[in-house]
Amino acid sequence: MLDLLVEIQDNKEIIKKCKKELKIDLGIHSMKKIKNEFEQEKEKYKSIDTKLKENKIEIENVENKLNIIKQEITSEEDKLYRNLKYDLKLINSLEKSIELKVSKMKELEEKNLKLLYEEEELLQQKGCSGKRLITLKADFHKNKKTSSEKIIKIKQNIEKAQQNILDIEKRIPKELLDKFNQLSSIKGTGAARLSEGVCLGCKMKVSAMTIDNVKNHRGIVYCDNCGRIISCNKIS
Ligand SMILES: [Zn+2]
Repeated sequence: MLDLLVEIQDNKEIIKKCKKELKIDLGIHSMKKIKNEFEQEKEKYKSIDTKLKENKIEIENVENKLNIIKQEITSEEDKLYRNLKYDLKLINSLEKSIELKVSKMKELEEKNLKLLYEEEELLQQKGCSGKRLITLKADFHKNKKTSSEKIIKIKQNIEKAQQNILDIEKRIPKELLDKFNQLSSIKGTGAARLSEGVCLGCKMKVSAMTIDNVKNHRGIVYCDNCGRIISCNKIS
């Protein structure tokens, strides 16, 4: 009969542990961390995207300017080569203007090249950031799934232990169960095994008379020191 009482206590201990587990972490901490990282990466992604758009506008701008300047150069060259009236003043001023424009054109072409390189770099960064976002999102959902699976498992364990207790209680005489519950509510546990004359509830040696009572199966026997039930054979 004592085994049944101890079994109730073991099941109560399982419930206590499970409830404690339900209160702690369960992956919530790492989920928060992933979520923070995701938000940060999202900001980074947005900022790269903004830079890309700005870059694109600048490229268009430079290309427009380049087209205009190329047309101007062509038209001035036309003037220079087709209308040769040996007007030295005009020739000089056209040559100077073309020279300036060619140099400006080269400058714009360099700028355009630089912007194109930047665009390539930004596109690469955007790709990496996008991949990272997908990974983080997948990690988050995986964590969430694991966490809810854990919670379900713990709740199942609690239910199982509660059912075990109910089943065992049905097999224990009411008087003994009441006494046990009363002791349990005071001490936390109401029953303890005896090992070589020592009560495992309080780790103290019990008296020879008590041991004698246990050996002779004399009703409910209590520990001399802590009062826990240490034997309860032949009780009906
Ligand atoms: Zn004791």
